[in-house]
Amino acid sequence: MNDTPGVERRGDNVATLASDAAERERLGNVRPLDWRNPSPAPRYDLVIVGAGTAGLVAAHTAAAQGAKVALVERHLLGGTCLNIGCVPSKAILRTSRLYAQMRQADQYGAQIPADIRVDFANVMERVRGVRARISRADSARRLTAAGVDVFFGQVRFKGADVLDVERTTLRFRKALIATGARPDTPAIPGLVAAGYLTNENAFDLTEPPRRLLVIGGGPLGCEMAQAFCRLGVQNTIVQKRPLFLPREERDAAQILSDAFARDGIAVRLNTQVLDVRVEGGAKIVDLVSDDYHSTVVVDAILTGTGRVPNTDGLDLEAAGVDYDARRGVRVDDFLRTRNRRIYAAGDVCLRHKFNDTADASARIAVRNALRGGRQRLSALTIPWCTYTDPEIAHVGLYVRQARERNIPVKTFTIPMHDVDRAIADDEEAGFVKINVRERTDRILGATIVARHAGEMISEITLAIVAGVGLRTLARVIHAYPTQAEAIRKAADAYVRTRSAPAGERWATAWRRWLRR
Ligand SMILES: Cc1cc2nc3c(=O)[nH]c(=O)nc-3n(C[C@H](O)[C@H](O)[C@H](O)COP(=O)(O)OP(=O)(O)OC[C@H]3O[C@@H](n4cnc5c(N)ncnc54)[C@H](O)[C@@H]3O)c2cc1C
Repeated sequence: MNDTPGVERRGDNVATLASDAAERERLGNVRPLDWRNPSPAPRYDLVIVGAGTAGLVAAHTAAAQGAKVALVERHLLGGTCLNIGCVPSKAILRTSRLYAQMRQADQYGAQIPADIRVDFANVMERVRGVRARISRADSARRLTAAGVDVFFGQVRFKGADVLDVERTTLRFRKALIATGARPDTPAIPGLVAAGYLTNENAFDLTEPPRRLLVIGGGPLGCEMAQAFCRLGVQNTIVQKRPLFLPREERDAAQILSDAFARDGIAVRLNTQVLDVRVEGGAKIVDLVSDDYHSTVVVDAILTGTGRVPNTDGLDLEAAGVDYDARRGVRVDDFLRTRNRRIYAAGDVCLRHKFNDTADASARIAVRNALRGGRQRLSALTIPWCTYTDPEIAHVGLYVRQARERNIPVKTFTIPMHDVDRAIADDEEAGFVKINVRERTDRILGATIVARHAGEMISEITLAIVAGVGLRTLARVIHAYPTQAEAIRKAADAYVRTRSAPAGERWATAWRRWLRR
């Protein structure tokens, strides 16, 4: 277990929400105190329920096309991503990486600072500052300037083309449900009574717990476990499956397990939490792995065990919209619900619960709803990334998926330790793995494990979307030295496997003969 010396702790208990200038700025942008809902228009072209990524993108896109738009939010504009998701998690990860680098400074020929003190309160102040700055883009002011009517309140559908926000009635030609998702609560006896953190309150901490248990080895659990560990919190992560990030390929997940072990995280794979109880202020957690029972004692528990769509309280039955409490609003490939006037986008209806997908699906829904478009969700190429160190990014088909579909697949892999820039940066853990359809250069998918995998995956996504094959990628000059050169090396490996075409072979032989 990790017990980083010099970590400043101001108590063992979970601290309370900070209220500072940054928070005032954020809340002033995303939930102005003096806000008065506008008088509604007689009928809107589009009413959007939920102002997270999907709702905001839809509102700005539709308003830019001249539509009369109302956007309704029950809590904070910006939704999960800005307030309790991508933005604060990436901000805290950045600082935690810096601390990890300071502790490894000697690896780079530098001195390890004598006193590496984590001032957690300062770290979280920076997180709040980042969040406040980014909140300007999601502000109520920006929406109203774009011509969007912004309403705060809980929505209830009253019919096929009408809904209520508190006591105001909004009529619509089309509506978009973009109510997102919330953390799932695992059914663990004693957990609720003991108290636990989720992404909804973890970023409000102003003091670190001394000992933390993270339940869940998906992207959220992995990112948070690494961040808190590197900020000096003694950390255990419990994952009921044999590897982290079960969706990813085994070798990628294994690299992450190794990185966690190096960080000093106590990794408990194949392990389930049986129950939680509180004794003397500490949380006692019973675990089982196969038949082996054990107990960990911690000060806080953070759950990252999945997210459930927000469909509650909307009275979707009144609107004729089908939904399922776990899978969310049911949509067809055009993002249309059973009620032809009503569409859905983002986490409330999608299997891929990512910010980029919420954004892309909102654009499709607006185009289909307002312009009679026929854009399909299934046509999207969706990349994703887990922002641990190293990052793990993926796009397209995994090898196992290609095989399930009887697509013959060949894989080209370049380990990062063969890439000059990765060696220079001492960031050699990872690989670039590109899957192509056998005997062709058509890219089916790719997994990248590297410090900058999230940036690198875009090149492969572009190639898939534009129909660019590995042969062309091999001709693309990549600036030297960059870690993205691994992609060109994989493409070179492909080219080497292909013998030169007959004409080329004949021409080479002819030139050789002439030179004799
Ligand atoms: C910790 C964490 C880190 C993440 N990191 C990443 C990342 O790095 N990259 C990435 O791509 N994705 C990331 N995600 C996922 C990403 O945040 C979501 O996929 C994205 O925010 C979904 O957007 P959305 O608009 O569908 O929903 P949300 O952002 O959840 O917005 C839905 C909005 O609807 C409102 N609402 C709900 N019900 C009602 C109602 N009845 N009436 C009115 N309003 C209502 C909610 O208050 C909310 O504001 C992360 C998620 C978490 C939790």
